Amino acid sequence: SCSNEPQLSEAQKASKIGKIIAVMSGKGGVGKSSVTSMLAVSLNRQGYKVGILDADITGPSIPKIFGITEKANVNKIGVIAPQSRNGIKVMSLNLMLENEDDPVIWRGAIITQLIQQFWSDVVWGELDYLLIDMPPGTGDVPITVFQSLPVSGVVMVTSPQQLAGMIVRKAIKMAKKYDTTFYGLIENMAYASCPDCHKRIEIFGTPKGAEEAKKNEIPYLGQLPIDPVLSSMSDLGKIEDYQTENFDNIVQRILEEVAK
Ligand code: ADP
Repeated sequence: SCSNEPQLSEAQKASKIGKIIAVMSGKGGVGKSSVTSMLAVSLNRQGYKVGILDADITGPSIPKIFGITEKANVNKIGVIAPQSRNGIKVMSLNLMLENEDDPVIWRGAIITQLIQQFWSDVVWGELDYLLIDMPPGTGDVPITVFQSLPVSGVVMVTSPQQLAGMIVRKAIKMAKKYDTTFYGLIENMAYASCPDCHKRIEIFGTPKGAEEAKKNEIPYLGQLPIDPVLSSMSDLGKIEDYQTENFDNIVQRILEEVAK
């Protein structure tokens, strides 16, 4: 055969992945892992086969959000990704560490290699969507992901506090460098609703997500409120029991962008 064909590993031969969606943010704590998880849950409910690659190596939170405690197994073909209760496949460094509290004190080169192995040595099987929870910012890992994986597009997560700075713009510029498609921008924690009168309270000031998306020429996907139920369900590892109409609408917008 042609010598330019990439050499596929056994795990890759055993996998067939539709779209790869990278979820990014400018900085930490804006809800990137939450959005990645909710997107996976929503696609899974719609009957799609979904996997999550937790590339946030130094702050991996996906296994906890899904309540996955089972460790990854290795067989002759590769690493078998553990599954959530509803069958979402998850690969995260925490599923390989003996003790999930162990800190990751590796240098960039090893982390880069680990990301490549999450792609080459994990038996993902057949997936419609592989979601990548990227670390915040524009460091080594996002670069490795864009260089080593056939990313189909990016969802950017921001919060109103973050938009004041230019960190988001940096992340958008970086992804554009790699000719990435932007499915759009989600503004998380945009407001809170008073539990008594349902009045909308804009805790961090007026949301600017729509404006920011327009400035960067990427689609605006919508806002999510601060919802204590979301954070408590995540803490309990029960994200699969959480549902909100706000987010279902955002997922529809994402699927429209993916289909373009
Ligand atoms: P990141 O991945 O950007 O660091 P996380 O998704 O881990 O952020 O979210 C940070 C914290 O904020 C978590 O405790 C999470 O449960 C909480 N959180 C995220 N989005 C919301 C929201 N819309 N409402 C309430 N809590 C949220």
